[in-house]
Amino acid sequence: VCPTAALTEVYHVDKVWEALNDPDKHVIVQTAPAIRVALGEMFHMEPGTIVTGKMVSALRAMGFNGVFDTNFGADLTIMEEASELIYRIKENKTLPILTSCCPAWVKFIEHQFPELLDVPSTCKSPHIMFGTIAKTYYAEKNGIDPDNIVVVSIMPCIAKKAEAKRPELTKDEHNNVDIVVTTRELGYMIKEAGIDFESLPDSDFDMPLGEHTGAAVMFGTTGGVIEAAIRTAHEWMTGKELEKVEFDQLRGADGLRKAEVQVGDKVLRIGIASGLGNARTLLEDIRDGKDHYDAIEIMACPGGCIAGGGQPYHHGNFEIVKKRQEAIYREDKNRKMRKSHENPEILKLYKEYLGEPFGETAHRLLHTHFEERERI
Ligand code: SF4
Repeated sequence: VCPTAALTEVYHVDKVWEALNDPDKHVIVQTAPAIRVALGEMFHMEPGTIVTGKMVSALRAMGFNGVFDTNFGADLTIMEEASELIYRIKENKTLPILTSCCPAWVKFIEHQFPELLDVPSTCKSPHIMFGTIAKTYYAEKNGIDPDNIVVVSIMPCIAKKAEAKRPELTKDEHNNVDIVVTTRELGYMIKEAGIDFESLPDSDFDMPLGEHTGAAVMFGTTGGVIEAAIRTAHEWMTGKELEKVEFDQLRGADGLRKAEVQVGDKVLRIGIASGLGNARTLLEDIRDGKDHYDAIEIMACPGGCIAGGGQPYHHGNFEIVKKRQEAIYREDKNRKMRKSHENPEILKLYKEYLGEPFGETAHRLLHTHFEERERI
């Protein structure tokens, strides 16, 4: 929170209650991967406690018509992003490709590095992809008028509130995402509703938009998006199953990391930055030709979304962030499916509705564009 009160946090809790109290609306909710490893802190649990099952139970008790997972959108993002990476390599198009799920750096690059606007992947971010699929595929399958569907995103991130209002993401017939609330706001809502969070039983996400893999969970931490993309791209490029799905060289907490990954007879050079100062260093090196990469990941928050601006305050205590990161990797390890292209509901979505990954329908629904904006 701004110490001079020049900036204040925008709360959207009332809008969610209003939607939930409207009998004509079908209100569904999605929760980002970073929420489940931090929400417990709002209820005095240890940092890194995984509360996925309790969180789902709480959301269901609050009256949502469907409780889904942004991880479904993350798996979908990987299908598109890995396809785009392979396309750019094969067709000698611009490299590196930059993962595009963090709206804060998207804004940063539009204002500060417009000459690099052909670098980011054109993929929409996971929660926006989810919103698009909810208002099309899900609406059609369930016979619901998309205008009556309200998509609520629970995000670790304040920038996602602004992202959901970007004109190029709302220009379609239907807004992709209607309301964004943060982890903290969700905590306040659970308290307001008088729900005894700690004693809630665990329950599972609704299907089909709740199915997800371990790869998707890793979107919550620095290095996780690129590791998820590499798991899929590696298997698609080599045609062989990975013997080990973890890419340890992509993990860590340092704000600026470089690594190489052998994919068949090709070595992919990867750059990972978290924190916008480190992002600037990485992008300047690329712009000035000082370093070459095939793929880069940037997260505006140091450590990634686990330390996002909408999470329970960690007051600069990076031990807390470390515990959340460990929990993210535990969640990945505990999932039976750990590669996005193995998610059966995603495969069904392509078969029934989207066609080929990176194909015409996928492009129309799941991709966007970025624009040069005034330097500030
Ligand atoms: Fe939002 Fe921070 Fe995550 Fe970027 S890194 S999406 S700004 S929480």
